[in-house]
Amino acid sequence: MNGEIICIGTEILLGDTLNTNSKYLSQELSHLGINVFYHSVVGDNPERLESTIELALQRSDIIIATGGLGPTQDDLTKETFSHLLKIPLVPHHSSLEHIQAIFNCSHSKMTENNIKQSYIPLGSTPIPNDKGTAPGVIIEKDDKVIILLPGPPKEMKHMFSIHVKPFLAQKTETHFFSRYYRIIGVGESTLESELMDIIDKQYNPTIATYAGNHEVLLRLTANADSQEQASQILQPFEDIIMKRMGENIYGGKNDLLETIVGKLLLAKNRSFSIAESCTGGLVASKLTKIPDISKVFHSGVVCYSNDAKENIIGVSPETIEKYGAVSAETAKELCQKLFLHTKTDIVMAITGIAGPGGSTETKPVGLVYIGMLYKGDILVKELRLRGDREDIQERAAKLALNLLRE
Ligand code: ATP
Ligand code: MG
Repeated sequence: MNGEIICIGTEILLGDTLNTNSKYLSQELSHLGINVFYHSVVGDNPERLESTIELALQRSDIIIATGGLGPTQDDLTKETFSHLLKIPLVPHHSSLEHIQAIFNCSHSKMTENNIKQSYIPLGSTPIPNDKGTAPGVIIEKDDKVIILLPGPPKEMKHMFSIHVKPFLAQKTETHFFSRYYRIIGVGESTLESELMDIIDKQYNPTIATYAGNHEVLLRLTANADSQEQASQILQPFEDIIMKRMGENIYGGKNDLLETIVGKLLLAKNRSFSIAESCTGGLVASKLTKIPDISKVFHSGVVCYSNDAKENIIGVSPETIEKYGAVSAETAKELCQKLFLHTKTDIVMAITGIAGPGGSTETKPVGLVYIGMLYKGDILVKELRLRGDREDIQERAAKLALNLLRE
């Protein structure tokens, strides 16, 4: 079965309201195993509303429309569907009582327009609205299911989860089950080419990548009738993904890199300190969001100027003079000298050019060195990062945190 979501309201087209209803409904429908093929948004305009609904009725089995169920002149959703489906609107007694009770509570007078809200298409099933006045409806006609819900997200979500979801669950035999993997240190195109063979071939499970926030989210989705069946479908693919990309995977859909790293440092009881130049304290800021991190996080020093690198941390002026503040040598010495102050198990240093200015021919914007001292060994990574100042800082901080997973 394929579904279509129509959101009705000029405020969405004007950009005044973010269309969160579509996002919510799409997620819910995909969990139910219903393919959503179209999202439409249409203003409160009778002709365009009619043509949008007509098209949806031609191409989709399940249509969910939100908005336009209110009492005002521009709320035309029910009327338009009724007209196109050739089903008359009839008064619905208990919906009218519900609206009447709301007006009684607030000691205000009900208008003709409010009475209009209690009308539903003949033979349809009303969906009670506990959080507002307009009832929703489920209309079933000619193998189509049409569900009308009010626009306000609070009302819509409540009605969907209590009444519509169980109704739709009965209609679908299979559901979608997804696993998510958060991947850092490789770009979306590299990831895709690594997994091209399994991405190309598959339709169950499907594999998709989403780039965002300096990392990639990989989704693996099975269409199955039970969790067990889904696991059987997903596991062989998860094994392949783990084998090829395991080192770059740090967590699941709702994991944050800093949380994973913070927990790891706590679990291994590894103390940590850092000298940050181009990231301006970003790594320390991310880590200190983790409760209890004080047990392992000793200190973060923002040594932005050469003076701070020399006189607070203790890097020799000769090193900076000879190699520059942005160099592997300076990153290394920052670690060594910070260790003399902090004596932590891990010491890290970040120095780089975040831009937009400050680049030279040999040292372009995006050149970043991350040093890490652990058990007497020093590792220095040279990164060439793309993006604006904020991107470079954020990427450098994330890649530094990622090194702490190793
Ligand atoms: P009401 O009785 O409130 O008029 P309604 O069903 O007529 O209900 P609309 O008038 O279309 O709903 O929308 C009411 C409010 O709900 C809008 O001002 C907007 O803030 C919010 N809203 C509507 N549609 C969406 C949407 N797709 N995503 C997020 N919010 C929405
Ligand atoms: Mg309205």
